Amino acid sequence: MFKRLFGQILLHLGDLEDEFRLFHLRDDIAMFIITAVCMLLANVIMLRVDFILYQTSMDLFYLMIPFRSIQILLSGFFLFMVRRTKQVQKFDLLVFSWLLLNVIYFSLFSFTRPADYLATTFDLLFIFGLYLLSPLQLKQTLALSISLSLGSLYVAYHYKYGVPAYIVGSTTGAHIFVHMLGLASALQIQSFKRRAFQAYASERRAHEITQDLLRSDLLTHSFSRGYFFELAQKEFKRSKDLNLPLSVLIMDLDHFKKINDTRGHHAGDKVLGWFGQFVIQHKRTQDIFGRLGGEEFGMLLPEVTLKDALTVAKRFQTAWVEIPMEVDSKVIKSTMSVGIAEISEMDNSFDELLNRADAMMYKAKQRGRNRVAHK
Ligand code: GH3
Ligand code: MG
Ligand code: MG
Repeated sequence: MFKRLFGQILLHLGDLEDEFRLFHLRDDIAMFIITAVCMLLANVIMLRVDFILYQTSMDLFYLMIPFRSIQILLSGFFLFMVRRTKQVQKFDLLVFSWLLLNVIYFSLFSFTRPADYLATTFDLLFIFGLYLLSPLQLKQTLALSISLSLGSLYVAYHYKYGVPAYIVGSTTGAHIFVHMLGLASALQIQSFKRRAFQAYASERRAHEITQDLLRSDLLTHSFSRGYFFELAQKEFKRSKDLNLPLSVLIMDLDHFKKINDTRGHHAGDKVLGWFGQFVIQHKRTQDIFGRLGGEEFGMLLPEVTLKDALTVAKRFQTAWVEIPMEVDSKVIKSTMSVGIAEISEMDNSFDELLNRADAMMYKAKQRGRNRVAHK
């Protein structure tokens, strides 16, 4: 029933529901601290009011001291517990318990006040505050505020004598009114919060998608040129700082233009796709593989010396020739030329290292292609 009634107004966030609460947890905790501190201070200040009210019967005033002290101590305890909370469920439980204790406290309070004091006026404010500030689910807030109304009105009807009927009537009316007003405000606040979070989540998703698009090459699933350089520069700096080996491979497909010319551009695209798949399957997770342009690719081998990089390059170069490829039921043969370079003390930037690998790749081409070259 509750869901049918409010589900229409309150946007359900689906999978994002838990994240939505977690996202607001810090703000909710801050809000709780402010509210609890205010309540705590209000109780201290109200002792002064109690003193004026009960000047004629000091026994009652002495009764108020432990009564208020319990509230102050409890608020202090909950403040301490909530500040350390990291989980939404624990936070909700603590807040609910604290509010429930306050509801009981306020209801008991009504007994202590004289008939003409109109404690219910303060209850009305408390109820409205609950609707506005409670971070709990709406049904929990509703249950708490209705309980407070019932407690407060029960005391007003059954335990107070000499209260004129019109005041009792208008108090009941005011309670109904504050629930309507409070509920509408709570729905509005919740609705804004949820829609704002949904907008934030979709903006974040759009940002992730754009980042992914910028960082990867759709045809080969390797990194884009820009992202490859970004990662490579970081790895270059790390290797320099920690004095670690670092090797780079440039792999260029041989006579690729011929594949395009004889078998069509779509066949060339397929070969590029297979090449990307092939390298990704055979490389180590930490190797950084990117498309430098056209049919030319770079691969960074962190913590690998030139000698080991040579073994890797040869393994790739010989395995690639063996990959069976067919387009339109006709076999395609593809080979690659690889240039290798290793970081040296003389290198001041990643570009210098890459340029040496590039020069080696051209050497491999000059020497007849389908081979590996290094200094
Ligand atoms: P070499 O052995 O000297 O490297 O010869 P090559 O033909 O591979 O080199 P060249 O640089 O002359 O030609 C590269 C070709 O790669 C030309 C270009 O049309 C093609 N190419 C670049 N990007 C793509 C692409 O995304 N898809 C397809 N199908 N072809 C591409
Ligand atoms: Mg080529
Ligand atoms: Mg090329």
